Amino acid sequence: MDGATVVDGAAAAGGVTADGERLAGTDAAFAVQRCREKLREHGARCTAPRIQVMGVLADHVGHLTVGEIHQLLVEAGGRLNISTVYRTVEKLTGLGIVHAVPGRGGEASYGLAGDHHHAVCSRCGAIEEIPGPQLARILAAAVKATAYRVESLIFSGLCPTCRLV
Ligand SMILES: [Zn+2]
Ligand SMILES: [Zn+2]
Repeated sequence: MDGATVVDGAAAAGGVTADGERLAGTDAAFAVQRCREKLREHGARCTAPRIQVMGVLADHVGHLTVGEIHQLLVEAGGRLNISTVYRTVEKLTGLGIVHAVPGRGGEASYGLAGDHHHAVCSRCGAIEEIPGPQLARILAAAVKATAYRVESLIFSGLCPTCRLV
């Protein structure tokens, strides 16, 4: 039963539309697969909204606000309302599948959690990823210095565009 929900969800988010137009089919398939594995790992259900939100994040390089995720879902023919997107993003964040990066003005952006850190522009809020292995020693030092469970480092500065302003 769950399997049928999954297939429907993927089609709505990024599969093939009624008139046969193809919308990021491979990414949707990837998201379904990844979502299934990840949610299973966490003992959580693989629902259509979770797959749709993960599909958008997998399809997009970088991080998105809830409003941007909702917008992309609507453009792809999805029908989730924004409060469902909020709840889904919160759930996926709580599960550790998605992580939040605080942006300009306190609005968070979300991306699929992975071995990367972030540079955030203090002027425009742009977020750039930094591969995790490059900062492994700094991360270890941060954990040692604070005893926090540090998982992600955030560097603050000016992006290339804002540096020119
Ligand atoms: Zn990230
Ligand atoms: Zn900037």
